[in-house]
Amino acid sequence: MCVPQAPADGILKLSVLSRADSHPAKVDLGVGAYRDNDGNPWVLPVVHEAERRLHSDPNFNHEYLGVGGLPALTSGAQKLIFGKDSPAQGRVYSMQTISGTGANMVAAVFLKQFKEPSDACVYISKPTWGNHRSIFETAGHKVLEYRYCNYETLKLDIDGMLDDMRAAPMGQIFVLHACAHNPTGIDPTEEQWREIAKVMKERGHFPFFDCAYQGFATGDVDSDAYAIRLFVAEGFELLVAQSFAKNMGLYGERTGCLHAVCQSPSVLPQVSSQLNRLSRATISTASAYGAKIAGTVLEDPELYGEWLMSMHDMSKRILAMRWLLKNKLVKLGTPGNWDHVTEQIGMFSFTGLTKKQVEALRTEYHMYMTDDGRISVAGLNTHNVDYVAESIDAVIR
Ligand code: PMP
Repeated sequence: MCVPQAPADGILKLSVLSRADSHPAKVDLGVGAYRDNDGNPWVLPVVHEAERRLHSDPNFNHEYLGVGGLPALTSGAQKLIFGKDSPAQGRVYSMQTISGTGANMVAAVFLKQFKEPSDACVYISKPTWGNHRSIFETAGHKVLEYRYCNYETLKLDIDGMLDDMRAAPMGQIFVLHACAHNPTGIDPTEEQWREIAKVMKERGHFPFFDCAYQGFATGDVDSDAYAIRLFVAEGFELLVAQSFAKNMGLYGERTGCLHAVCQSPSVLPQVSSQLNRLSRATISTASAYGAKIAGTVLEDPELYGEWLMSMHDMSKRILAMRWLLKNKLVKLGTPGNWDHVTEQIGMFSFTGLTKKQVEALRTEYHMYMTDDGRISVAGLNTHNVDYVAESIDAVIR
């Protein structure tokens, strides 16, 4: 066997470097995980409460979940993403997956096996989450890019995006970030989503929504599901990968779902049987612990309400950090326009810093961010934001 070296994963490499750096001024803005104002991971109060309830249940056990996952999770997750009175009701199959990544992978394999035309390519945004290309290529797809970010203005290149959708052959697969685009933090407006849906319908393209940040973009789960619900209302067949890593803070518990919206309830048995088969072949059954926590929160109106408030708090803190960073950069007179820091939404900001500046920040200032200049705004807090702004200012001058 001759096995060539796999390319290093940028984010994982960054985590190793950051962990090895014990400098007291270190700031980790690499990993996309929420941190509190002291830089610590946050276990949501509703997660603590759900765990307490699980452990006080005398029937709690570690048995396998059934095929398709935990119904309390999949049904609650379906309502969360499509809304309570969705026109898709009765023609959606929702299956539990290994968080958002697992949902992406099952979707990628499913599309490779059944999407017509069989030579349809997968189009990912330029740029996108580093794993999209790897996942779809691993599943055997040819992966191409559509324009997304205007790298000069750091705004959405809507014309380029729509042109690329028009220029693609009919019936291609488009990977769309439902909200809080990773890595740019740039989302289409509602009007732009309507244009995107119109062009995709004209060209017969298939939407695959990746939704890893519902609740993080606007702080409101319904607003963050706008695009998905619009496409459903427009009658698209589609897939949605949904993660509870960020919005419920269940990162390592690997809790997520894949939803398949079919044209008619009559095809649900076939679609669900194939998705179950793929799941069985790869993970056998989904992981139970995170699903039980998320299912408990989604099913209990009181916990659900508290969870919405926690999401609101997380997104509010991130937004406050955006303003602090921008204001400090403006105050320092740092060259450039910093409006994009507060215009972009979600967990990330695409700063526009060059690879060389990112490197200088890492080696001279102990600040860690991805090479493309993306920062996880959740890593900022009132103790480090001045230092971050001053360091950015220093490497830019
Ligand atoms: N999609 C996107 C766009 C993401 O940013 C992430 C997390 N970084 C994921 C999917 C998957 O995350 P997880 O597997 O942890 O749910």
